[in-house]
Amino acid sequence: MSRVLIADDDRVSCKLLGGLLKKWGYEVEVVHDGFAARRELMKPDAAPLAILDWMMPGLDGIEVIKAVRSAAHEAYIYILLLTSRDQKGDLLEGMDAGADDYLKKPFDADELHARVRAGKRIVDLQAALIRAKNELQFAATHDTLTTLWNRGAIIDLLKKELSRRKRTGGELGIVMADIDHFKKINDLYGHLVGDAVIREVTRRLSLGVRPYDAVGRYGGEEFLIVFPACNLSALATSAERLRCSVADEPIETNAGPLPVTLSFGLASAEQIEAASLNPESLLGLADEALYTAKALGRNRVEPAAAMLASAPSGG
Ligand code: GH3
Ligand code: MG
Ligand code: MG
Repeated sequence: MSRVLIADDDRVSCKLLGGLLKKWGYEVEVVHDGFAARRELMKPDAAPLAILDWMMPGLDGIEVIKAVRSAAHEAYIYILLLTSRDQKGDLLEGMDAGADDYLKKPFDADELHARVRAGKRIVDLQAALIRAKNELQFAATHDTLTTLWNRGAIIDLLKKELSRRKRTGGELGIVMADIDHFKKINDLYGHLVGDAVIREVTRRLSLGVRPYDAVGRYGGEEFLIVFPACNLSALATSAERLRCSVADEPIETNAGPLPVTLSFGLASAEQIEAASLNPESLLGLADEALYTAKALGRNRVEPAAAMLASAPSGG
């Protein structure tokens, strides 16, 4: 059901308008002055349709419209201006201020209905566009199998965290995690079981991190986790917890419960000299550590060997 805000200081007119709109199936909100109208329309969940009287105490309809249009709302508010003025210049002023349509008082009910329907079509279309835009944005930044950040998005996130750290200082660590002998799971039980394993590993990794840590699917069965505010020793604790969350409990699949383990490579920003610290150098360090973890027998957490002494740090 669509919501409509009515702003009119004339209570009789409000009642009449409100009654008609309710009859036509709209959910009606009513205010009686311009300040209240502006307050309501500035809310993030404002009604998508508004019928504003031009002449109101406090702010008039035009001033309300100007305020709404200068705010950075994502969702469009369709505004119908009610006016007893009828000089051409006045109407142009109203439309110029950002009104979508106007109606002269006293209004004809059928005409009002048609104009509100036209507004609702615009508002619905705009809502559908926003939805489509959000879906596209999600698809462009997330992996379909796991709904984790995809490779591009998690690297972007790492870039952002690195430049934030440059400005504000603080710790930053990353973990590369790779499922051990995953090819065997595919070979023995098929790709669908392999996919189910990746999804369950994803679930456990996501449950095991804090809300401000970010988990991404870096490659097929390889994950990149960005830990803001974590030095190497905090990173090791977190990674060990994640390792256990997968290794300690077999994964239930259509082929029965399967033991699954991951190897982890850790690197933290404090290990790299400021001048050469960037996503590539940090990823390279974590990747080397992961390789070592694999070489040392898998199902283990391996911190990167320190590359360069960093500038003075807290720990
Ligand atoms: P290691 O312990 O050295 O990491 O061995 P591994 O077998 O895990 O590594 P390898 O890189 O040899 O094999 C990874 C396999 O993961 C190969 C690839 O077919 C499979 N894979 C990658 N993405 C997916 C996916 O989305 N679904 C499934 N089922 N398999 C995938
Ligand atoms: Mg692997
Ligand atoms: Mg691999």
